[in-house]
Amino acid sequence: MVWLVLMVLPVLVVGLVARRAVSFAWLWAGLAWLAALGWAADWAPALTVLAMAAFAAAMYVLRNPALRRRWLTAPVFALFRRALPTMSQTEKDALEAGTVWWEGELFAGRPDWAKLAALRWPQLSAEERAFVDNDTEELCRMVRDWDCTRRQDMPAEVWAFIRARGFLGMIIPKEYGGKGFSALAHSEVITRLATRSSTPAVTVMVPNSLGPAELLLHYGTPEQKQRYLPGLASGREIPAFALTSPWAGSDAASIPDAGVVCRGQWNGAEVLGMRVSFDKRYITLAPVCTVFGLAFRLYDPERLLGGDEDVGITCALVPRDHPGVDIGRRHAPLDAVWMNGPVRGKDVFMPLEFIIGGPAMAGQGWRMLMECLAAGRSISLPGSNAGMQQLTARAVGAYARVRQQFRTPIGRFEGVEEALTRIGANTYLSDAARVLTAGALDLGEKPAVVSAIVKYHVTERARQTVNDGMDVIGGKGICLGPQNFLGRAYQQIPVGITVEGANILTRSLILFGQGAIRCHPWVLAEMDAARGGDLEAFDRALWGHAAYTASNAARALVMGLTGSHFVRVGADVAPETRRYYQQLTRFSAAFAFLADLSMGILGGALKRKEKLSARLGDILSLMYLASATLKRYEAEGRQAADAPLMHWAIWDCMFRIQLAFEGVIANFPNKLAAALLRRVVVFPLGHPYVVPSDQLGHQVAALLIEPSPTRDRLTAAVHLPQDVDEPLGALEAALAATLAAEPVEARLRQAEREGRFSPGVLASGDVDEVWRRARDAGVIGAEEYALVERRNRLRDKVIRVDDFPLDFGLAEALGAASAGRNPGRNPTPAP
Ligand SMILES: Cc1cc2nc3c(=O)[nH]c(=O)nc-3n(C[C@H](O)[C@H](O)[C@H](O)COP(=O)(O)OP(=O)(O)OC[C@H]3O[C@@H](n4cnc5c(N)ncnc54)[C@H](O)[C@@H]3O)c2cc1C
Repeated sequence: MVWLVLMVLPVLVVGLVARRAVSFAWLWAGLAWLAALGWAADWAPALTVLAMAAFAAAMYVLRNPALRRRWLTAPVFALFRRALPTMSQTEKDALEAGTVWWEGELFAGRPDWAKLAALRWPQLSAEERAFVDNDTEELCRMVRDWDCTRRQDMPAEVWAFIRARGFLGMIIPKEYGGKGFSALAHSEVITRLATRSSTPAVTVMVPNSLGPAELLLHYGTPEQKQRYLPGLASGREIPAFALTSPWAGSDAASIPDAGVVCRGQWNGAEVLGMRVSFDKRYITLAPVCTVFGLAFRLYDPERLLGGDEDVGITCALVPRDHPGVDIGRRHAPLDAVWMNGPVRGKDVFMPLEFIIGGPAMAGQGWRMLMECLAAGRSISLPGSNAGMQQLTARAVGAYARVRQQFRTPIGRFEGVEEALTRIGANTYLSDAARVLTAGALDLGEKPAVVSAIVKYHVTERARQTVNDGMDVIGGKGICLGPQNFLGRAYQQIPVGITVEGANILTRSLILFGQGAIRCHPWVLAEMDAARGGDLEAFDRALWGHAAYTASNAARALVMGLTGSHFVRVGADVAPETRRYYQQLTRFSAAFAFLADLSMGILGGALKRKEKLSARLGDILSLMYLASATLKRYEAEGRQAADAPLMHWAIWDCMFRIQLAFEGVIANFPNKLAAALLRRVVVFPLGHPYVVPSDQLGHQVAALLIEPSPTRDRLTAAVHLPQDVDEPLGALEAALAATLAAEPVEARLRQAEREGRFSPGVLASGDVDEVWRRARDAGVIGAEEYALVERRNRLRDKVIRVDDFPLDFGLAEALGAASAGRNPGRNPTPAP
């Protein structure tokens, strides 16, 4: 009987903790349990009463704020304050920037799926739809990537079109002449342009991302707004933003570029200003900009501004033709055509009115940048990289059906199928995350952590997708030229990986590092209370935190033991996805507990344990990506035909979540905690997910290699030229022709197998001779031959790669004089 009562205890505790029972429930449950134990163990009544009184006294201390603070909270408070790492203002600005959104629910262990279900899936307005379908399509038609590559610029008429149609002012409100577009519209435009060429995509992306327009809108003085915004909206002004220096890339807050407050001449008068020296590199659009934002650290040794000597990072807006500015040279970022280059200046005098927001905003530059970072980071790279994925899915899928080896479309080989499967599912998932996140911005959120998640994961998935695409199309992707539809995207992938927070750093430091402090319901409150010396606030946060941690551990355990079958999803979701919501709830609770334990055991050292932090960030990110995928599936009407894409993406996320959990647990510094974590809390009955099945993968791959509404939905943003002289136009036509010709091809093979037809010796070198002989032999009819003949013609267009003169035509372009010096043409130099 004693054993029975003892065994009830953990069940009782886990139940109370999991349900976050109020203290009275604890009190009565505890008293009842002690009474039962006393009875079962045959204790003397006095002993039982003593035990119950001691328990009641402990509960009283816990319930009484004054006693609890003095006896329990105060010692922890002192320890916490000693252990709290110091934080610079720039770190604080970065951590506190933006808002917490859906990722907060996932972080805290109790995602409210009804909230996700209630979110409206973002839609374009009629005006935005027209801009995407007309203006953006027209811009796509005007740009030929290979022509731009050869001339290393877009033609003048394309630049004029971009400016005149307002592409550079999508985020500028209409009152200044801009488009005032939603985040979704902005994202759709970038996504579509990226399916055509990175040149217009990046050119359009940068002025609409973090830079002069965004900063002016939030912090500009009325005069600055009137002076610049109409020009930026109309494209008269072209902006750039210069932060990165040769010595400060990822660690941008340590820029050595400096300004000193001083007096100087401006417009014929002596004014208070700044003498600024700067050396910036990698600045997109700098070579062609008319005005650029400049970040530098401002010093005021003579206290002319009346504040500190080190004023702090400051952002100024500098006209390109300002005296002393050295601008106009170019970098060649993996042969990108969009403009990028350095900006330099030595002791350049600028009036204080150049500071964005005026002198009052001197020193506020870092906070301004951090506050505005989320919007652009949520759109630019997720948009362009989702576009590249859609292009890959559309074009490579078609190619894999058209291209045959071993008398079989290559897309039917299991090895190629594997790559196609990843392409399809990653594209579906990435676009889901792109759209969901743009929708968050349109709801007024500035989700700092989510913006890092989508930036990191969509660019990483795009790297995988484009790499897979290159593998599938083989040499066709490698030989550059007008017929190559993927090689240029492949070249551009590292740019997305590196900019707007290089990916290794984003994964290792930001995703969990910022997430833990921003999304955790109690940590920021504890830190603020500790820094402010507020014991009362700390007491509230500490005990709230303790209840939260215990509850997550208990819930994870219960859900793990029951396979999360009894988790209430609380939203009307497709039956085929219900288990995913349940398992995500379970993973979310386990993650919340693991995050707390990691922070508790490692404390400030977690910042240096980047590998652990990265894996914790992976779990949070993958839960976000899975949520976005599920939301997309619901929003698009639970399309049964699309279900394989959704299922594969979710199984892949779940499997990777498990791996990330294992990665953290296996490397946990405290081995006892690791064992308890694995066997008790996170995986009490083992891993619920294996890799997505081959059969499911086969279904996904099959969706890519033939036309269908699913394929159209998956690649809805892709610009599809009608002209069969364009590679994508040829691919689309060739795919249709291939499908039409396949039954004819099957008949020919059948005739061969049955011995009714033998093509004989085919010595002409013409791969299509067999078809003529089959027609002449009456194996296929004239109409069937026409189908095959059309297929063959289009197939040849598709598989063709470009070739060039020995010197790529350079000699002709540069004139006869340079021809003599070209080593390719004239391998033996003249003496
Ligand atoms: C094509 C292009 C366009 C750009 N456009 C602009 C622009 O318009 N304006 C502008 O101001 N800047 C721009 N940049 C700069 C860009 O933001 C930086 O390149 C980026 O911040 C990384 O800096 P870095 O290249 O110096 O790499 P580094 O800072 O030298 O980093 C190298 C590697 O170390 C990793 N790393 C660094 N610190 C850590 C850490 N603590 N933990 C883990 N890993 C770490 C990084 O992730 C990266 O993988 C552009 C860059 C490129 C290449």
